[in-house]
Amino acid sequence: MSTITIPDLVAPAGSLRALTLAIDAGADAVYLGLKNATNARNFAGLNFDDAQVRDGVAYAHSRGRQVLMALNTFADARDDRPWRAAVDAAAALGADALIVADTAVLAYARDHHPGLRLHLSVQASATTHTAIEYYRQRFGIQRAVLPRVLTLQQIQQVIRNTGVEIEVFGFGSLCVMVEGRCALSSYATGQSPNTAGVCSPPAAVQWIEGPTGVEARLAGVLIDRYGPQEPRGYPTLCKGRFKVGDAAAPDYALEEPTSLNTLALLPQLIASGVSAIKIEGRQRSPSYVAGVTRVWREALDSLRNGERYSVQPAWQHELGRWAEGQQSTLGAFDRPWR
Ligand code: SF4
Repeated sequence: MSTITIPDLVAPAGSLRALTLAIDAGADAVYLGLKNATNARNFAGLNFDDAQVRDGVAYAHSRGRQVLMALNTFADARDDRPWRAAVDAAAALGADALIVADTAVLAYARDHHPGLRLHLSVQASATTHTAIEYYRQRFGIQRAVLPRVLTLQQIQQVIRNTGVEIEVFGFGSLCVMVEGRCALSSYATGQSPNTAGVCSPPAAVQWIEGPTGVEARLAGVLIDRYGPQEPRGYPTLCKGRFKVGDAAAPDYALEEPTSLNTLALLPQLIASGVSAIKIEGRQRSPSYVAGVTRVWREALDSLRNGERYSVQPAWQHELGRWAEGQQSTLGAFDRPWR
């Protein structure tokens, strides 16, 4: 009987509570960030101080799971010391790997903590095996997280041509441009998605009730108008409805407010040799983390147990509860344009 290698399930943790729930729900690894600009989800009420990282690492390790630390922003040209200090902290606190995008941070980790695993962050936007091999040769990365713009065939092509482990996103919000580094929201809010934690900082978001529904605005810029019963996504500029050219009505010009959900493609992803499946959403609630992780654990285990795979309605129902705008998509896996 042929055996299949089940990928690691990598879950987000924006808090110690989310971390413990993720582990209890069956995550093989959790990823987290410190309470500063060294991680791309840097906003109030989220993330870990040193003591919490230590507690989280102890909790995960006592159950045979791993903690990956996201140091995935690009260092500030004026002062990169926080990024170097974060690498040192991750090593001292027992993180199993760093998730890094910036070559300067990769070089620092390589030179000062040669035993620490390095994962190339999705923020690095490495889409080809040659780019990934470059990072392996220069910095010794052992895993790369692929941007959410590749087809199954393109993922297979990458895996065939590199010895670096490949991680792909399975579920969560989508970004259509350079993985969190487009300038749309910087233009509207004056804040960088790189270091302000999110494309739409909560302080800039306005929901304005009117007689015909609700307007969503970001720093005053109208992103969408919703009818009374319409599901609402978090207002992100790339996912707004705009009137373009001669169009009769506003429509999604760039991307729709939906969540990626690749549950239907899981057997193909595994057959392709994917090493890890990632759930997006450190900014989401502990309940989201627990609910989504549990579904993916069950799906992966059903394949491990050799069961005939089919996406269970209960899984889709649960994921539908947590999807952005309560809608999901296969994203680039079935997008007609490239
Ligand atoms: S505004 Fe949209 S495209 Fe731009 S970084 Fe954010 S999610 Fe990505």
